[in-house]
Amino acid sequence: MRPLISAQREILDSLPMLPEVHVGLEEALGLVVAKDVWASHDLPPFENSAMDGFAVRSIDVTDAPVELEVVDEVAAGQASSASVTCGGAIKIMTGAPMPVGADAVVKVEDTEWIGETNRVRVLSSVDPGTAVRCAGGDVPKGAIVLRKGDRLGPSHLGVLASVGEAFPLVRRRPVVAVISTGDEVVPPETRNLGPGKIRDSNRFILRALLEEVGAAVVDRGILPDDAAIVSRVLNQCAGEVDVIVTSGGVSMGEYDVVKEAFRNAGSVDFWQVALQPAKPFGFGNVDGVPFFGLPGNPVSVAVAFEQYLRPGLLSMMGATALFRPRQKGVLIDSVRTDPAKEVFLRVHASYERGRWVASLSGSQSSNVLSALVAANAYAVVPVGVGSLKSGSDIDLEMYRWPENRTRLEALNE
Ligand code: AMP
Ligand code: MG
Repeated sequence: MRPLISAQREILDSLPMLPEVHVGLEEALGLVVAKDVWASHDLPPFENSAMDGFAVRSIDVTDAPVELEVVDEVAAGQASSASVTCGGAIKIMTGAPMPVGADAVVKVEDTEWIGETNRVRVLSSVDPGTAVRCAGGDVPKGAIVLRKGDRLGPSHLGVLASVGEAFPLVRRRPVVAVISTGDEVVPPETRNLGPGKIRDSNRFILRALLEEVGAAVVDRGILPDDAAIVSRVLNQCAGEVDVIVTSGGVSMGEYDVVKEAFRNAGSVDFWQVALQPAKPFGFGNVDGVPFFGLPGNPVSVAVAFEQYLRPGLLSMMGATALFRPRQKGVLIDSVRTDPAKEVFLRVHASYERGRWVASLSGSQSSNVLSALVAANAYAVVPVGVGSLKSGSDIDLEMYRWPENRTRLEALNE
């Protein structure tokens, strides 16, 4: 059996990079920046007020309360041509440029308007710079805003927009064909399951996992256990997509048609990986298009996706960080595992009294979807370890962070 790490290394070494393209910000979520992005101007671009209030000379209000003459008013998007001189003030809104002469803003709550006059009473003194946002205080002109290899999340898109990078250079979104195989597999909308039939869950798990990582999915449906058909469809797909993923048909059985389909092609290797679940796995290419042949059981599909496809696609997209973070936790259950394999237990992990605590989320058989649904992490048992006592330290690979439900409960009390 091949160690997981060597399988991962071989995959990552052989995958091509996707081409670089400029895309609009609306299209860019989840894509990876292909070159460093520099700020072409200061952010904020000009000195402005952080508050609604009055722009003043701080030296004029040291003996507050004091009265000042309001000589102008400036809203966000405007600029005042007046300046603040001794004893004067300019009414200012959040985001409006600081008028010449002013060095601080007194917030409106600390002032009183005096009757019908154009005078304001300032109730408290302010230090120079109070409530003033200086030009470049967020990002100075010329600084690196994002680095090559950064994956674009919501805030990244915001910063690109604010420095005017409306069409950032990224690597293209991978287009991935997804195929289920098996004579027993029928679409989920099937009304009556015939004898021996099961509904196709893999395709929907894979579609969703692919979309989460930023791929565009081409769904090629379900193929029968017929090597000639599988072969034909794979070759068709190869002209249309960047990556092909199948599930089922890669183990040792007689009907393992994905394996059969490549028997004479030689461009895909079938590995036995020291991984549980998802020991059998096919990897190679169809006419140069990377091919991932995942096993048939749904939990194996999910684990194989996490360990091969997710890092693989992120690498094709140019990402610097390819793997989920792991953290130390404590396993509540005692378990026995196959010491010859790296075992990914499905667990529910939560943070309790200062540490991560994980318990098995259900049966650990690779067909048991309910345990995957109840899980939010994989507890990783390394090769060489065959049993873990309750309370053992364990690595947790979190793939879904638990939502916090205690906050509102606390508020309701
Ligand atoms: P295979 O590797 O093709 O022998 O499949 C292994 C197990 O996974 C069998 O029990 C299959 O019925 C099941 N299986 C294969 N494909 C799917 C699928 N698309 N959805 C749910 N289960 C599947
Ligand atoms: Mg099958």
